[in-house]
Amino acid sequence: MVEISKRIQQMAPSGTVEMSQKVREMQSQGRDVISLSVGEPDFATPLAVKEAAVAAIREDKANHYTAATGIVPLKKAIIDFHNRKDGLDYELNQVAVFSGAKFTLYTAFQTLLDPGDEVLIPAPYWVSYTEQIKLAQGTPVIVETNYEDNFKVTVQQLEAQRTDKTKILLLTSPSNPTGTFYTRDELTTLGQWAVDNDLLIISDEIYYELMYDNHHSVSIASISPEVQAHTLIVNGLSKSSAMTGWRVGYALGDAGLIKAMADLTTHTTGNLASVSQYAAIAALSSDNDAAKEEMRQKFEDRLELFYPLISEIPGFKCHKAGATFYLFVDVTEAAKRCGYDSVRDFCMAILEEAEVALVSGDDFGAPDYLRFSFATSDDLLVESARRIKTFVESKWK
Ligand code: PMP
Ligand code: GLU
Repeated sequence: MVEISKRIQQMAPSGTVEMSQKVREMQSQGRDVISLSVGEPDFATPLAVKEAAVAAIREDKANHYTAATGIVPLKKAIIDFHNRKDGLDYELNQVAVFSGAKFTLYTAFQTLLDPGDEVLIPAPYWVSYTEQIKLAQGTPVIVETNYEDNFKVTVQQLEAQRTDKTKILLLTSPSNPTGTFYTRDELTTLGQWAVDNDLLIISDEIYYELMYDNHHSVSIASISPEVQAHTLIVNGLSKSSAMTGWRVGYALGDAGLIKAMADLTTHTTGNLASVSQYAAIAALSSDNDAAKEEMRQKFEDRLELFYPLISEIPGFKCHKAGATFYLFVDVTEAAKRCGYDSVRDFCMAILEEAEVALVSGDDFGAPDYLRFSFATSDDLLVESARRIKTFVESKWK
C-alpha cells in the first residue's frame, strides 16, 4: 500500500468535480442522467478564439515555454480589459496568468499564508477555497450569512470573526453558489472595512460578466486607489468565454505579490500552456464582446425558463439568481417531507431515482441547500425540473 500524505488524506476532494465524474460513469453505463452539477458553460468556445489558437500553432508561436507570468501581449490584453470595464489602471508587473482561476487561487494562498493565518470566507462559498487554504496551512474562518439578506455578508458579521490573525477577506461577487452579487455601495463599505483593518481582499470575479436584468458587475478594486492597493483580483475565461478546457486564469494586484506568485510558478506549472495564452488574447479583445453577449443572453433566457419551474416544486425555496448560472435552493422542507435525514441523502436519491445530478449544499458550507447549474439546454432544463417535481410529489408525506 502506498502511503498518502496526511495533508492529502485530510483533504476532501472537490464535491463539484466528484459529482461530474460520477455522472460520466453513470452515463457510460447507459444511464440517462441529466447533469446540473458542474458549473461549466455548454457552449463551444467562440470561433475567433479558436482560430487565434490555431494561427498561433501554425505560426510556431506556441511551441515553447513562456515567462512564468505569461506573454506580454496577453498581460496587456488583461490590463486593457479591466481598464475598459472598470477604469482600472495596472502596470505590466502587476499581472500574471496561471492555469485556471482555481490554480491562481491556490498559488495566491501558497504565496500569502503562514501557519495559523486566517482567511475570512463568507458562506455559502465555492467548494475549493477551504481545502486550498488548509493545504497552505492557513485557517479558513467561515462567516455565516442569511437567506433573507440574499447571502450578502455585512461588516458586522465580518467584524465578529476578525482576530489579530486575520490576513485575508475572500470575496466572490458574483457568487458561486448563490448567484448573488454586491452593489457598488456594498463593496464600498466592505472595501473600506478591509482597508481600515489592513486586510488583503482576494476578489474572485470569475462570474463578473454573467450578470442579468441589465446589471453590470463592479470590481471592488475600482472603489478607490486605497482599496485597489489592498486587492488581488482573480479572474479567468472559463465562464465568460466558455473556455473551461483552456485553463486560463489570472491575477492582478501588488507587484511584489505577483512576482512571488510567479516565482512559485517557476517550480509548479512553469507557465500557462502557450497556446491558451494566444487564445486568451482573442477572448479578451473587444472583438469577442458580441460572442460573449450572445452566451450571456442565452443564460439569462434559461434563468427565466428554469427559475419558475424550480420555484414551483413543493418544499423548494430560492431567490432568483442575479448573476452566474446557478440557483441555490433551500430544500430542507422537501427533504424532510420526502423522508430524508439530510439534503445530501436527498441529493443522492434524486441522482439515483430521478437521474438528475445536483451538488449538495454541504460542499458549499450550506447543508440545507442544493445547487442547480442551469448551464445546459432548454430541453434538458425542462425535463430535469419535471423529473425532480415528479420525484418529490411521489415521495411527499
Ligand atoms: N472561482 C469560482 C467561484 C468558481 O466557480 C470556479 C469554477 N470554475 C473557479 C474559481 C475556477 O475556475 P477555473 O479554474 O476554471 O478558471
Ligand atoms: N467552478 C465550477 C463549479 O463550481 C466548476 C467545477 C469546479 O472547479 O469546482 O461547479
